[in-house]
Amino acid sequence: MISKENPELKLIDSKMPSVRQSSTATFRNVYYANPLTGKIEGPLDFNSVDNIIQVKGKAKRTSGLDIDCTGLYVIPSIFNTHCHLQLNMPSLVADLSDIRAMKKHRNRQQLQVLTDLRNLGILNVRDAICEDLRGNKELEHRFSLLPFGKVNIYQSVVVSMLGSCWTPERSLSDRLLHSVAGMEFVPYDDSNSGAVVFPPDADEITVRGAVDRAVDERGADFIKVYEQRHHKVFFKPGAPLMSLKQLDALCDQTRKRGKKTVFHMFSVESFRRALASGADSISHLPLDELLNDEDLQKIHKDVIFEPTISLALDLSWPRSGSPINDSPELAKLDNFRREIMPYLIESFWVDGLKNAVRKGYEKASSAKFKLFGLKNLSAPFEYHEKIITTGVANLKKLISAGTTISSGNDGGIPPLTPSSLWFELKLLRMYGGLAPEELGPFTLRCATVNSAKALGLSDSWGVLEEGFKAGMIFYRKNPLENPDVIGASPYMVWDGQTLSRNESID
Ligand SMILES: [Zn+2]
Repeated sequence: MISKENPELKLIDSKMPSVRQSSTATFRNVYYANPLTGKIEGPLDFNSVDNIIQVKGKAKRTSGLDIDCTGLYVIPSIFNTHCHLQLNMPSLVADLSDIRAMKKHRNRQQLQVLTDLRNLGILNVRDAICEDLRGNKELEHRFSLLPFGKVNIYQSVVVSMLGSCWTPERSLSDRLLHSVAGMEFVPYDDSNSGAVVFPPDADEITVRGAVDRAVDERGADFIKVYEQRHHKVFFKPGAPLMSLKQLDALCDQTRKRGKKTVFHMFSVESFRRALASGADSISHLPLDELLNDEDLQKIHKDVIFEPTISLALDLSWPRSGSPINDSPELAKLDNFRREIMPYLIESFWVDGLKNAVRKGYEKASSAKFKLFGLKNLSAPFEYHEKIITTGVANLKKLISAGTTISSGNDGGIPPLTPSSLWFELKLLRMYGGLAPEELGPFTLRCATVNSAKALGLSDSWGVLEEGFKAGMIFYRKNPLENPDVIGASPYMVWDGQTLSRNESID
């Protein structure tokens, strides 16, 4: 099952081989891959006390764990800035037996995702959207009962007008869809809803009030703006966007509340609206047109891009009549997908769902886009398939313009899970147009400092300096020369209070 081309793709051992808890730990003789300089420092000692790095340099002997790491490399813990923790749909073209399996194995799959996040050193994740906020709180609680440290979950809450793409008027078919998928139907004004709505003609004060409600009542860490003129599920055009006045009020109020905005978009129009209104993060890539020089010049240094390029694995497929069929990028993606799919399924899905994920892959690769075996569901694929062509061309433009890229994989959209961040980093390297010597430093920056900035955590995470959080991932290989190790199973993870070690990694 281990890929020949990517020897770092080892199976993830979710059994947590050895776990040791301690309030202090000293790691001696480590080579630190510094994300800020893209260089190796060391050998250094790191001393961690109560989750914080107290000494970087030469540590004294202390009580607690004391480990000589001769020959090991260390990086700060990594991030997934865009994922959906509650989604565990095994396929976008599921049939009824897949839905049954999903409901039956939901708890185990979600817990495996959190366990894998911890084992891979992905200690901070942003949940990009969820319908029912209770689900993530419950997940956090269940995870806290396990014998290792925390994965921090940050919650985005959508603020939008009623009738927009993400917040349509609730219909009977909407309720029906929820009940088939085994999801709770939560009205927008319920305090557990992941979306706050305002009327289409809302004035500035009402929009600001909706932002306040998202922060105060729903506990939003981020305000999500869902910019899309195509409705969900069947992607028919006609979904309205909020007015520029409403958008400006929303962004301004979010800033006033000390929070950040995240924009969902797939079009150049929304890319421009996001930039103009002062978005903090912009998710996905424009698919309808290429960005022009003026667009690139308007990007200010603090905005962060979250390409979620691995959505191409889920949504870009050859199919008859598709404009992307002959693109070399698609051919390359197809080869890669064929190579990694068995690994992805084996490592990231619980036994009860593996078959459903495999079936979904086989259906999509033979262009059978049917939901429940009946309804034609090619619309989402048609809408998103240009991720691998126009999207990739825009990705290259953003990277060569020197913009800040964070690591989010949109996991939860099958077959990717929030823990399978490796694929995002790999695809960024495959399609980003980077020079060979840039691959390592780029990957490291993206998964650490850039993502910490995206989550507003630059003061506490993203580098291993004194006073920062002591989330540490140890590898046998130099991650700057072998960026394929980042996001794959490490040799050791220290989350600030527990150490897990995976002896099978060489
Ligand atoms: Zn998403």
